[in-house]
Amino acid sequence: MKYPVNEVFETIQGEGLFTGVPAIFVRLQGCPVGCSWCDTKHTWETLSQNRVDADLVIQVDGEIGRWAELTAQQLIDQLVAQGFTAEHIVITGGEPCMYDLTELTSTLFDAGYRCQIETSGTFEVKCHSQTWVTVSPKINMKGGYPVLPQALNCANEIKHPVAKQSHIDELDLLLKDIDISNKTICLQPISQKARATELAMKVCIERNWRLSIQTHKYLNID
Ligand code: SF4
Repeated sequence: MKYPVNEVFETIQGEGLFTGVPAIFVRLQGCPVGCSWCDTKHTWETLSQNRVDADLVIQVDGEIGRWAELTAQQLIDQLVAQGFTAEHIVITGGEPCMYDLTELTSTLFDAGYRCQIETSGTFEVKCHSQTWVTVSPKINMKGGYPVLPQALNCANEIKHPVAKQSHIDELDLLLKDIDISNKTICLQPISQKARATELAMKVCIERNWRLSIQTHKYLNID
């Protein structure tokens, strides 16, 4: 199977349980979810005129929306050729779960990498069973895709951006029929605002949830 890859880069995971872990980000092209505040809108469309050679996606894109088709083994070959040393791979997007990630994650695990998927929860999650699945639920977005119970049930981690009480309420509604006893729930203050941080901290302490700080924004790194 071939996957449309927008960019691949090595950095430090800035959010969630793996904060601080060296990571290779593999950003897949394509997303129909339609979040108005999306900061990777260039990944939405997979346009034929933006198709490029595989070696061109091993660098940060930023805004072009270019993509190359790679098999899992071709991706690993690129990682090795670049001399990347991180063992943790974050498969993100776009919306990576538009694609069946079983072959990609299985091949990466076989090659000695650990995999994490970051998804909006609006597509069924298909991946190797040891993959760490992070669902950041995108609720009532323009594309009209509901957050799926299958994705929430698969999640090891549910990471929710919070600015006001209604964000907590919508998360509670989403999780009311989901067993969260073995899941890490992270609240992430939006835009590092003081009120958002105070609310997220208060709820995390009350419920023994985890505060996720977007550390890459403080460090000014990708
Ligand atoms: S799911 Fe992610 S990539 Fe897609 S529109 Fe929302 S924020 Fe952007």
